Amino acid sequence: MQVVRGLNALRTTLKSSVDQGRTIGFVATMGALHEGHMVLVEQAKKETQVVVTTIFVNPTQFNESSDFEKYPRTEARDTELLQEAGCDIVYIPKQEEVYPPNKPKLVEYDDPVLFGKYEGTYRPGHFQGVVTVVIRLFDHILPTYAYFGLKDYQQYLVIKRASDYLRRPVGVVGVPTQRAQCGLALSSRNFRLSDEEKEKASVIYSVLNEIGAAPSSETTDAQIQNGIKRIEAAGLRIDYLDVCDLPELNSVSDWRAGQEYIAVCAAFMGEVRLIDNLVFTKML
Ligand code: AMP
Repeated sequence: MQVVRGLNALRTTLKSSVDQGRTIGFVATMGALHEGHMVLVEQAKKETQVVVTTIFVNPTQFNESSDFEKYPRTEARDTELLQEAGCDIVYIPKQEEVYPPNKPKLVEYDDPVLFGKYEGTYRPGHFQGVVTVVIRLFDHILPTYAYFGLKDYQQYLVIKRASDYLRRPVGVVGVPTQRAQCGLALSSRNFRLSDEEKEKASVIYSVLNEIGAAPSSETTDAQIQNGIKRIEAAGLRIDYLDVCDLPELNSVSDWRAGQEYIAVCAAFMGEVRLIDNLVFTKML
């Protein structure tokens, strides 16, 4: 595995693979890696010939600079994990190559369907920052496929639509969420939670499952109100809990047999903001 810093070093390292027409798999991360990231690398490894993982804490997708500063940075451990997972190249881009001073700060793009919902509402500007970094890294790496976690389902949908609209010829692949034994979705932010807090936060996943398994005779509203009570009783503070359709994420109030839905949730455990979701099909 090679660790390369900067775009020129990346291009030199990738040249022979590009010349030989090898397929390239791309995994974008902000570091502080865990088992959830490793499944992205493993899937990329199975489906492509050269796996490039980036580590870049992207300032434009944070709403608060304190959150950006507090974001865990564990590069030495990250590269060890990536080596074990079979990654070929760790790419650590330079700040001024992702954000060149002579270019507009953000990629010009709007998504009227997805930017105004859920994460887009609670974290204004977040998805503009995500689209910017992903598109710029696509242009650095020119991957065949790019792998994104379905833990961040809205992000996955945003990136799929943005890469189509902006005509980047990259296959965007979603990878199922990895969880701790208690059900809590793995996240770099969990490093800031105690064991007891993690256990309490696993209520999010139980509530999502309850909503998925609820009888179709009950309205989604009743399910959501119950779920909010349970999450709050465990000591979390809710941003949102809702049920919506796919792929547009429109909130729904009635179930329809055979239709696919997604239950989405964001809540704070102390100062740590957690998100999760569950995709399910309602049977009548
Ligand atoms: P991050 O470093 O948090 O930006 O995440 C990098 C990638 O890993 C994103 O595509 C995430 O959706 C994905 N990811 C993070 N946690 C998980 C998880 N628990 N299961 C699956 N994918 C994940």
